[in-house]
Amino acid sequence: MGSALNIGKLFGIQLRLHYSWFIIFVFFTILLVSPHWLSPSWWIIGIITCLLFFASVVAHELAHSLVGRANGIPIKSITLFIFGGVAQMTKEATRPGAEFKMAAAGPACSLAIGGLFFGLFWLFPPDIAEPIATMVYWLAYINVALAIFNLIPGFPLDGGRVLRSFLWQVTGDYQRSTRIATQVGRGVGYLFILGGILIAFLRPFGLDWFSGLWLVFIGWFLENAASASYRQAKWREALFKFTASQVMTSNCPVVPSSATVNQLVQGYIFTGGHHLFLVADEGKLEGILTLQNITSVSNQNRDVTQVKEIMTPINKLKAVRPDQDALSILEQMDENDMNQMPVVSEGRVIGLIARDNLLRFLRIRSVLGI
Ligand SMILES: [Zn+2]
Repeated sequence: MGSALNIGKLFGIQLRLHYSWFIIFVFFTILLVSPHWLSPSWWIIGIITCLLFFASVVAHELAHSLVGRANGIPIKSITLFIFGGVAQMTKEATRPGAEFKMAAAGPACSLAIGGLFFGLFWLFPPDIAEPIATMVYWLAYINVALAIFNLIPGFPLDGGRVLRSFLWQVTGDYQRSTRIATQVGRGVGYLFILGGILIAFLRPFGLDWFSGLWLVFIGWFLENAASASYRQAKWREALFKFTASQVMTSNCPVVPSSATVNQLVQGYIFTGGHHLFLVADEGKLEGILTLQNITSVSNQNRDVTQVKEIMTPINKLKAVRPDQDALSILEQMDENDMNQMPVVSEGRVIGLIARDNLLRFLRIRSVLGI
C-alpha cells in the first residue's frame, strides 16, 4: 500500500495511517452528525465516536499482531485505510494452529468490544442524553459488523485465513489450501460486485444506489486483494524451490570505495551492464552497492560523490548461506528492511542477492516457461 503517515508505535509495532482513511473518518462523522448540523454537542460526540471507532480497528489489528507474535509470526506495521486495517507480517504462519489463532483473534476482539458497547447501552438510564446513547449504540453495531464482515471466508479476509487453516489442517497441503482460499476470496469479491449492481438498479428494501455502488467498490477491492494474494502465494512457492547459490549474482565487479559515482556509471554500468558491486579496498570488503544507491545521488553530484558515501557498509549487512532457500532470504530482507544480502561461504563473499534480483529471476523463468 502506497503513501501512509507514521503516527507512532504500539508494542513495538509501527502504526500507519493511509490517506484513504481520512475519507472514511469524514464520511462517518457526517453520517453521525447529519440530522443535527447546528448542534455543537453532536459534532463533538460525533468526532469522539469516530476516534473510538479508529481505536476499535487498531485494537482488532493489535489482537492479530500480538497473538501472531506470540506464535512466532513477526508483525512489522499496522496500516489503517478506507476498508479498515491491515497488519503487515514479514513471515507466514508455519502451522495451521498458529494461523487459526492469529486470524480468529481480530474478529474475537471486535465482538468483545461490540458486546461491551451493547452492555453500556443497556446499562444507561433511559433518559440518558440522546447523542451519547446513539453513539454508544452505533459503536456496538459497527464493531459487530466489522467482526462479521471479516469472518467472510474469502482470503485475505480473516475468515479466509481461518478457512485456509482448516484446509491446511485437514489436507496438510499449505499451497493447495492457499490456492483454494484465495479463489473463494475472488468468488466472494465477484458476488459483492454482482449484489452491488443489483442493488444499484433494483433498489430493494429501501436501499439506495449509493449502497450498491459501495458494495461494488468493496467487491472490487476484495477481488483485487485475493488475486494479489494468489500471485504472491505462487511466487513464494516458486522461491522456496531455489537456493541462494542459484539466485545470486556471482560476477559482481569489485570497486574501490574512493571511486566516484560517475566513474562507476561510465566504467561499469553503461559498458558492462552491471548493477551490483562489491566495494573493497586492498582486498578487504567494505560494503556493497546497488543501482538503487546510485539513483539517490542527483546528476550534478555524481562527479563529487564517492562510492563509500552511498554504499551499504559491511556492518549493516546480514549474510546468508549458499544453501539457504530464496523464500527465507526474502523474508529476512522484509524483517530487516534490507534490499540486498551477501552470500558468504567459509568467510568469503561468493555472490550478492538483491530484492529486485529475486523478482527478475522468477520473471525470466516464467517467460522461458521453466
Ligand atoms: Zn482482521
